[in-house]
Amino acid sequence: MNAILRDATVPFYKPVGNECELFEAASANGLPLLKGATGCGKTRNVEHMAARMGRKLHTVACHTLSAADLIGRFLLKGGATEWVDGPLTRAVREGAICYLDEVVEARKDVTVVLHPLTDNRRTLMIDRTGEELVAPPGFMLVASYNPGYQNILKRLKPSTRQRFLSISFTFPDPVTETAVVRESGLSEARVAPLVRLAGHVRALSGMDLEEGVSTRLLVYAASLMAGGMTVEQALEAAVIEPLTDEPDVAQALRDLIATVY
Ligand code: ADP
Repeated sequence: MNAILRDATVPFYKPVGNECELFEAASANGLPLLKGATGCGKTRNVEHMAARMGRKLHTVACHTLSAADLIGRFLLKGGATEWVDGPLTRAVREGAICYLDEVVEARKDVTVVLHPLTDNRRTLMIDRTGEELVAPPGFMLVASYNPGYQNILKRLKPSTRQRFLSISFTFPDPVTETAVVRESGLSEARVAPLVRLAGHVRALSGMDLEEGVSTRLLVYAASLMAGGMTVEQALEAAVIEPLTDEPDVAQALRDLIATVY
């Protein structure tokens, strides 16, 4: 197991449950699959864990990602074509961590690449160059997905999914969330009502709102307030607008805000 580094270069992450322990266990025995709503800390957790374990990290946003985006391609350089590694190939060569954010958003051909890499073969086939790379022991694949956005067609194949060890992320309890939102520099007294508001808004999700306000949006709102914006302006920009385009729902959110402030 790698030495655990604790210094200022480790991004701040406040555990909500046992996700850090699970991540470490998964890194020794399998492939961590982080499951949870957008903005609930999955990416930050990977950044934190990679730094803690002293490992290099390549993060890839998977929306419409193709196998070539991941592996690499020939690019024209000064009249000649030159092979340029994609982030997955770089991670395999370096024995680094490759984090596939929102993996269910990737195109179908990506699954074909992941199979030989995630089973006991641990190989990456680069068809275009004829190379076959065997992943060194340090290489690790981490993936995340948001079950709320999962659609039947894009669902991960069970054969792929069974190779991963699932780690669930939920929104933090109020005490933890307050500590997280304090990262914005806003005082605890001003963060507390924001966190209370989030609880009320989340209770509405599934009814008028598709999803509740994320911790990320709270951090945005708090940063705007810490920068001098009024509560109304900050909540309009960081909470109401991102959550809805419906005037009625926006008004309901403003009414809810008025009950907290
Ligand atoms: P996800 O990858 O799940 O969409 P992120 O990891 O990008 O979400 O989280 C969004 C932001 O919320 C982070 O940049 C960080 O500011 C904050 N955040 C959420 N949860 C935590 C946590 N447990 N500890 C520290 N920061 C957090």
